[in-house]
Amino acid sequence: MRSSLRQLLAGEGRDILECGTGEDAITALKSQDTALVLLDIHLPGISGLDLMEWIASFTASTRVIMVSADANIDSAIRAMRGGAVEFVRKPYDLEEMQLKVENALHRSRLERINALMSARLECSERMHRFLVENSPDLIYTLDANGCFMFINGRVESLLGYSRDELIGCKYTRIVYEEDISIAHWAFTERRRDNRAMTNVEIRLKDKNSLHHFKPRLIVATVSAMGVYDEDSGSNEPLAKRFLGTYGVARDISERKKAEETISFQALHDHLTHLPNRSLFKDRLEHSLSQAKRNGGLVGVLFIDLDRFKLVNDTYGHAEGDDLLKNVAQRLRNCVRAGDTLAHQSGDEFTVLLPDLYGPEDASIIAGKILDILQAPFQVQGQEFRITASIGIALYPQDGNSADVLLKNADIAMYEVKSSGKNSYLCFTDKMNVCHHERISLENELRQAIKCSEFELYYQPQISIRGDSIVGLEALVRWQHPTHGLLGPSSFIDMAEASGLVCSITDWVLAEACGQMALWRERGLGNLRMSVNVSPMEFERGDFVERIKSNLARFHLPAHCLDLEITENLLLNDDSSIIDKMRQLHNLGVRISIDDFGTRYSSLNYLRKFPISSIKIDQSFVRELVEGVRVSPILHAILGIARGFELHLVAEGVETPFQMKTLSELGCDEMQGYLFSKPIPGVAVEEMLMNSLSKLKPQRHVGGAEISSISY
Ligand code: C2E
Ligand code: MG
Ligand code: MG
Repeated sequence: MRSSLRQLLAGEGRDILECGTGEDAITALKSQDTALVLLDIHLPGISGLDLMEWIASFTASTRVIMVSADANIDSAIRAMRGGAVEFVRKPYDLEEMQLKVENALHRSRLERINALMSARLECSERMHRFLVENSPDLIYTLDANGCFMFINGRVESLLGYSRDELIGCKYTRIVYEEDISIAHWAFTERRRDNRAMTNVEIRLKDKNSLHHFKPRLIVATVSAMGVYDEDSGSNEPLAKRFLGTYGVARDISERKKAEETISFQALHDHLTHLPNRSLFKDRLEHSLSQAKRNGGLVGVLFIDLDRFKLVNDTYGHAEGDDLLKNVAQRLRNCVRAGDTLAHQSGDEFTVLLPDLYGPEDASIIAGKILDILQAPFQVQGQEFRITASIGIALYPQDGNSADVLLKNADIAMYEVKSSGKNSYLCFTDKMNVCHHERISLENELRQAIKCSEFELYYQPQISIRGDSIVGLEALVRWQHPTHGLLGPSSFIDMAEASGLVCSITDWVLAEACGQMALWRERGLGNLRMSVNVSPMEFERGDFVERIKSNLARFHLPAHCLDLEITENLLLNDDSSIIDKMRQLHNLGVRISIDDFGTRYSSLNYLRKFPISSIKIDQSFVRELVEGVRVSPILHAILGIARGFELHLVAEGVETPFQMKTLSELGCDEMQGYLFSKPIPGVAVEEMLMNSLSKLKPQRHVGGAEISSISY
């Protein structure tokens, strides 16, 4: 039987084995992978049914066909229950046998392929599951109602929700309220393929910060795709086949932050964090176009801090930066939410007032700014007061473009600077004309400093009793390339307003000291040299040092230098100014008050400041005319000088009567055209050499005529 079956079933690729007993079969099955076993029930030793049980437990891939002459139906049933795929009764039909074997082998092949595919699928699913679970992105599926069916574990670390919490919940639970309308389109995406939505930015909420006033938000880009039932007939409308969506949300908070930082830096000042020049201009242009449409009024304030350079020079740039930050903070409190306060550069700020009720509102805000700056700031642990000059320009009257408004506000600010600072002014057309002249003069002045176009003239100071020259006042002149010789009244104010005066003083000090040293060397007397210094000099941190270095450089005793200051410097009771004066006084340097009596004379400051002498202003001297009573003010000034034991010099003495009267009133030292106009150094030298003692009051030494220009 076995041999005939072997012949019957032989075929290409088939390896057929024969075993006479169940035990032999077990040995053979153990040694090789077998697709099909044809098995009789009745065998010597172990029965066919028992062997089949063994096969079923040993390998699932081996199929069994029972071939038996056993007519008992129970055997057949047992065989089939035991896992046989067929039961063939002997004697059998050869073709039927062949067919059954073919079928069994075919099925076995299919099962093997199936098993292989399942194994591969399982492997692939494991891989995908791994990728999904370990993805840095949120991966989710939503049902047709927008409720989570699946979400990967990333949600726990990213948003603090557990997955179970979210499964079955609507997507809105994790979306920031303001973004729900955009999220709606992303999370209910119905399109597929390359039409599907990609990279929509949505803010998601971090569960752990929900109770905070400002919850932490994660910016994510969501890419989503619709899912459709592919099995139901394609006749079914698409909407009915919609099952839900799946998508990926990527956390881009870091990138977003970086982008925001970059754009913030491009539009804001890094020191004060205020909008910078370009953002300000942008907003101004925007406000102007709005105002043009609805007839509104727009204001621009240009703010410049008055003594800021002093802080940088005296305390260093770090302190200067701190002060700027503090000023910015105070200014912020003056503007409303819709206004823009910007930091232009250095000590300059601008304010945009986009919708003013009336022009006076801009002035009110400017006034508020000046008020708020009044309280002292702390600089290096010391109180420091800062003031500001503010220019105002309004749309439409002062210009209708951002550039013009800014320029005109700047011009108005400049006007405040040159008329005493610490105030505000609205732009007028007249300012514009002056401004242009001033700008060109300022440029020329810079050039003059570079090319040393200055000269010093000296005006002698005479002691009447001693009948001798006791001092000289150095008075600066500008040898202007086209205007000729200019007197200080043409340029000193402007030099002060633009800060250029310091360079001029540096030159004047060195020149005057050098000249003095030369005359002393030539034995031309123990003279005093008076140098005019503007109040700004005392604001320079190194002023005392510069005086000292000039004295040292020219080997001059301190007492022969006399610094002429004006009364307004004394109004400033800044401790650093008093301190500098004391240092100079202690060195032996003299300090005189020029033009005494013309400004805010206060006896108080004479007590506070270490003053050596006062110079009676020309206006009082001019009033001394024959037949007219001496002004009580002059009497008072003389009394003050005596009371405070101050040295006295009268300025602008032009007539012998004036000389005589002043002398009789007790003022011995005088300066004026009566004795000499200011003259160049060589002329002074000549005068000193031509026996000073013989100097006659009437002798008039003519100085060069000075032209003057006004601006
Ligand atoms: P000041 O210090 O009061 O100088 C006296 C001014 O009166 C000088 O004018 C002088 O020429 C003029 N003067 C002198 N005697 C007579 C007189 O008898 N009659 C008349 N009518 N005038 C007389 P100047 O040179 O034009 O200087 C004007 C002002 O410019 C000075 O007033 C001073 O405040 C300032 N100044 C001059 N040189 C400098 C300088 O180097 N630095 C600074 N910061 N200011 C200076
Ligand atoms: Mg003077
Ligand atoms: Mg004077």
